[in-house]
Amino acid sequence: MKLYSTLDRSVVDILPLKEGEMSIYSCGPTVYSRMHIGNIRAYVNWDVLHRALIYLGFEVKRVMNITDVGHMSSQDDFGSDFGDDKMDRQAEKEGIQPIDIANKYIDSVLDDFRALNILSPIGSIIPADLTFKNVEKYGWARATSYVDEMIQIIKKIEENGYTYETEQALYFDVTKLPDYTIFTGQKLEEKSIASREEVEVDTQKKNPADFVLWMKRVGKYKDHIMNWSSPWGEGFPGWHIECSAMGTAILGENFDIHTGGIDHVPVHHTNERAQNIGAFGHPVVKYWVHNEWLLNTDEGKLSKSKGGASSLPEILDQGFDPLDVRYLFLSINYRTRIQYSEQALQGARNARLGLNSKVLSLGTEKGSVVQAYKSRFVEYLESNLNMSAILALINELLRSSEKKADILATILDLDNVLGLNLVNLSADETSKQYILGTDSEIDRLIEERVSAKKSKDYKRADEIREELLNHGYQVVDTGDGLQLFKK
Ligand code: AMP
Ligand code: ZN
Repeated sequence: MKLYSTLDRSVVDILPLKEGEMSIYSCGPTVYSRMHIGNIRAYVNWDVLHRALIYLGFEVKRVMNITDVGHMSSQDDFGSDFGDDKMDRQAEKEGIQPIDIANKYIDSVLDDFRALNILSPIGSIIPADLTFKNVEKYGWARATSYVDEMIQIIKKIEENGYTYETEQALYFDVTKLPDYTIFTGQKLEEKSIASREEVEVDTQKKNPADFVLWMKRVGKYKDHIMNWSSPWGEGFPGWHIECSAMGTAILGENFDIHTGGIDHVPVHHTNERAQNIGAFGHPVVKYWVHNEWLLNTDEGKLSKSKGGASSLPEILDQGFDPLDVRYLFLSINYRTRIQYSEQALQGARNARLGLNSKVLSLGTEKGSVVQAYKSRFVEYLESNLNMSAILALINELLRSSEKKADILATILDLDNVLGLNLVNLSADETSKQYILGTDSEIDRLIEERVSAKKSKDYKRADEIREELLNHGYQVVDTGDGLQLFKK
């Protein structure tokens, strides 16, 4: 398998540490709001990698973190550690505890992943009844469950002489690591300094780029809600340490691949690598891979904190299917920037429905996989996930003179990686549709939802979507009306 390695600045052969195995750590969601479509891009891209590695016969060990404490509002843009905790801020807004915010949005992540046909980190389909209560059985790791491991790793970093303590925090001293900025090649002085009014700078901090390993429950954070005791006093972990701690606790002191969005390169992954070297004397991660941005059409960065970006339910309300979103993101290489627009999504939808109907016309008899196509599929997958070549290959196969039953079998086989439910959907989509008059309670809910949408009562419309879901039906909005499908 070849992938673009951010540190090598080129496409390289991914040679696993242990033959036949591939260990992957994926930066996961900060669960303080519904995911936006930029996040979805990241998860679809890395789901395709995950599925591809399984398809290629690797035994994949994957973990994805869930950040439920310590991610500051200022960290993404400025790299400053002194913003508001995103979880606390949202908890205040919604009038509930941070842990309940986390649980609520973990469930929303699961709903979105399930709809997008994203596999769980352990490689299974996400069961319909999976909630925040059991996510850790499926390969997700919650930061708040690993605070002990974080404290242990911080102790190691401290023993190895990379830290200093102020009244407010324990810091990683970046000047102790000569190649600290290896990812960006920036000079330390060039690293941006937080500049927002809300950001308080610790006057005892030595260098602007030093980052917090442990934040004490003092000063600005004296009322921080989630706290733990530690050798540096009561407080909570810095954001970056969770990934070093959970990655090594679960995958060991060396693992193959670390995935994340390009936004994580200059701060989050730079710091994670520094912590790894600080604790273990070596970088831990063999290959860092990053997906490019999904941008708004006006070149603006999509971000949850800025609002305005679309969530999956909003997109479904426009009449799209989750698999349209999946198709859009898997049809474009993870290293290509995407301008998001409704037209782009409509294009993906048309292409997907076209593909579906061609597959449907193949009939239902399954023959055997056409090996010549399978081997080209493997070749394209292994060339840095060349998805446009793969989609062209599928079209070529559909136009070929191979037997219909063999084409169908081949497409079924390739769909293990694409995850477009090509065959299932085309055969089942119509039979799964709800027919009015079957159940008076469902009929009533449909009627109520249509009128709620007409009167722009989106809150009620959302509630009814949930109610229908509880009855086992998925709503697909179509202009003024809706269609219902059995889940
Ligand atoms: P967060 O929940 O903010 O930690 O982000 C979750 C994942 O989505 C991370 O891997 C980010 O790098 C990625 N991500 C966030 N915004 C975008 C975007 N606009 N385009 C692509 N990836 C993104
Ligand atoms: Zn991370």
